[in-house]
Amino acid sequence: MATQADAQELAALRALSASIGLNPHMTQAAGGNTSLKAGDTLWIKASGTWLKDALSDDIMVPVAMAPLLKAVEQRDPAADKPQAFAIEDLNPRGLRPSIETTVHALMPQRVVLHVHCVDTISLAVQADGEAEVARRLGDIEWAWVPYFRPGLPLARGIAEKLRPGVDVLILGNHGLVVAAETVAAAEALLHRVRSLLARQPRTTAAPDIAALTALAGDYRLPADVEAHAVALDAESLDMAEAGSLYPDHVIFLGQGSVVAKPGEDVAGVIARLGAAPVAILFPRAGVLMRGDASAGADAMQRCLSDVTARVDGEARLNYLTAAENDELVNWDAEQYRQKLNAASTA
Ligand SMILES: [Zn+2]
Repeated sequence: MATQADAQELAALRALSASIGLNPHMTQAAGGNTSLKAGDTLWIKASGTWLKDALSDDIMVPVAMAPLLKAVEQRDPAADKPQAFAIEDLNPRGLRPSIETTVHALMPQRVVLHVHCVDTISLAVQADGEAEVARRLGDIEWAWVPYFRPGLPLARGIAEKLRPGVDVLILGNHGLVVAAETVAAAEALLHRVRSLLARQPRTTAAPDIAALTALAGDYRLPADVEAHAVALDAESLDMAEAGSLYPDHVIFLGQGSVVAKPGEDVAGVIARLGAAPVAILFPRAGVLMRGDASAGADAMQRCLSDVTARVDGEARLNYLTAAENDELVNWDAEQYRQKLNAASTA
């Protein structure tokens, strides 16, 4: 840390990060990340760690910014492995920087917040999302970045869209980035953008816990009662069944969603698929999670309910393609993040 002012800002960022991480409408599981630039060093959340732990745990890693930005500019695959740019003398725990480090390095502002805000995602999955965001954000300097896999591809997509003065990015099928010169200004901008993008979720009936329990076998109820909503609303269920809407869904829950057919119990679904999915949606009853599902999987299953309940039922949606699903499943950096996530929640 270069100066006392930087240290104070880093402390403020950790407090803000923890409060963001505790709000499931803002970020879920190990998703989302925050950063502070101090001189040539970028302090960024470590891969696999949860923002909610930012005060109780050391989750920020120092990264040398100039060589990382050079790698992005030169389309050097090294930019996809930000751990190569961690400043090891200041990183005694050997943490890996977030796979989204390049997003933060590219923004010129000192403080960058990246969140998987459910209101933003609900717009960012709609084919007409860019026009709808434009209508809502008014005179804010923002840019729309179409979907790219996080890492070097997303960094290149952002570099193409950045122009001087932009301090808000809407990432298609992904989330929100806000940036400012101070933690307080970044927090204020985050709340302003979120309130402009806020959408009223459709409400649903209560889950049928008795029916779910009778179908469950080795499966269990989700951690949050809110997770059931996607199976209780016909429009949300159709959206979920049609595919994967954003990357962390694929990483924690697999491709798309599995919906039980009429009369099927958990054993019947597993027999039909020849595999045990992480979660199963039972129309008009609710959701069941595999017994060994991680805390991250629970957070993402709830996120699916929170996002789909906000999407306009009439809207055409953009789904991740088969190739985009595959590159997430077979991705080294993500396998590392999942391993850490499993270890930290075991
Ligand atoms: Zn993200």
